[in-house]
Amino acid sequence: MNFEMSEKTRLIIDMIDEFVDKELIPLEPEFLNRSFKNLLPVLEEKRAKVKKMELWAPNHPKEYGGMGLNLVDHAFVSESLGRTPLGHYVFGCQAPDAGNVEILYLYGTDEQKEKYLRPLVEGKIRSCFSMTEVELPGSNPVMMDTTAVKDGDDYVINGQKWYTSSSDGAEFAIVMAKTNPDASTHLQASMIIVPCDTPGFNQVRNIPVMGEPGTDYFGHGEILYQSCRVPQENLLGPEGHGFIIAQERLGPGRIHHCMRWLGICKRSFDLMCKRASERIMTPDGKTLATKQIIQAWIAECAAEMQAARLMTLNAAWKIEKLGVKEAREDISLIKFFVAGVMQNVVDKALQVHGGMGMTDDIIIPFFYRHERGARIYDGADEVHKMSVARRILRGYEGREVK
Ligand SMILES: Cc1cc2nc3c(=O)[nH]c(=O)nc-3n(C[C@H](O)[C@H](O)[C@H](O)COP(=O)(O)OP(=O)(O)OC[C@H]3O[C@@H](n4cnc5c(N)ncnc54)[C@H](O)[C@@H]3O)c2cc1C
Repeated sequence: MNFEMSEKTRLIIDMIDEFVDKELIPLEPEFLNRSFKNLLPVLEEKRAKVKKMELWAPNHPKEYGGMGLNLVDHAFVSESLGRTPLGHYVFGCQAPDAGNVEILYLYGTDEQKEKYLRPLVEGKIRSCFSMTEVELPGSNPVMMDTTAVKDGDDYVINGQKWYTSSSDGAEFAIVMAKTNPDASTHLQASMIIVPCDTPGFNQVRNIPVMGEPGTDYFGHGEILYQSCRVPQENLLGPEGHGFIIAQERLGPGRIHHCMRWLGICKRSFDLMCKRASERIMTPDGKTLATKQIIQAWIAECAAEMQAARLMTLNAAWKIEKLGVKEAREDISLIKFFVAGVMQNVVDKALQVHGGMGMTDDIIIPFFYRHERGARIYDGADEVHKMSVARRILRGYEGREVK
């Protein structure tokens, strides 16, 4: 395996880095102090610039207007964009749309692709993914109360979901609901496309998260499905295959997340090192960077980031070469390892900034609040650790060890 960037990828990353520095980071003070909604007009202008530069939708299929980068190349892009919370949105590769694009591309009918996939890749609409329920454990989603019952040519959906991220302003949701309650556990649920203006799709609220009310793309919706009726042709993929498709959605998605987190690490690390180098701590001009404990943090963070980056690129390479199934263990390893590294790096960067580190004058507290969820979504740390350990231990059953 070779993680050296091709010349073409290097060029793309240089252009993205420059765009992030010059066009997006200057918007952050407004982003941190006003609602996301207020920023939409200027973000639309930035999106238009990105399209003009032919850098739009880097990971999405070429035939739908994306750049069609492979997973390893997009990993580098995701790292570069992750340095600002606005990056992925402005370049049209933000979650949860990115995952929805993947499954619509793989499982959508021709009609579904024209109606939902094309405008989604073009950035004309947004979408959301509605699986987690308020009353039941998301860590064991086969426990699901939401049902989709056939009635004539329709499905009628009833249930209560939350953490349907970005539902506020979305055009459609991909909803997980039980269609086949008598089938074996993993074949009971299906994915169904539900336009958000369907009667019975009720957005109850944006859930306030870590002190943020959340709006538009940066909101997490609670949705009540009440006799929500959609045609059966809105079924995505085969009936009863919801969990199988969900697994497909999560593999590449975890690479995107992990590299985005590494972008967050990089930004936080840069800010930490700059602050440590400039903060004068004694009358004779000694800086924070001269303190051994700070030096140790910097060295440890650098080592952790490098390990996390190589692990993630290796997992991306494995998915690319061998498929999601073969890379399952690597995907679980990076999911909890990189989330932990990010939490440590952001925490150390905040600490080095002292009181300033707690203020919304800088980006670090946003990362600290917003990215705490990384250890919970897309599979809580403990679930991934458990599944990796089980697989490792299975290899020792009946094996002689000297
Ligand atoms: C920021 C954010 C965005 C999200 N976006 C979406 C979205 O767009 N769509 C969507 O459908 N959902 C989304 N979710 C929901 C997310 O998928 C669930 O929160 C997650 O699956 C955990 O489910 P739960 O919250 O019900 O916690 P539970 O399943 O109740 O688990 C609680 C805790 O128990 C521990 N635990 C769980 N299982 C085990 C185990 N086997 N062994 C030991 N400990 C265990 C873990 O520490 C876990 O955090 C999002 C969540 C967050 C925080």
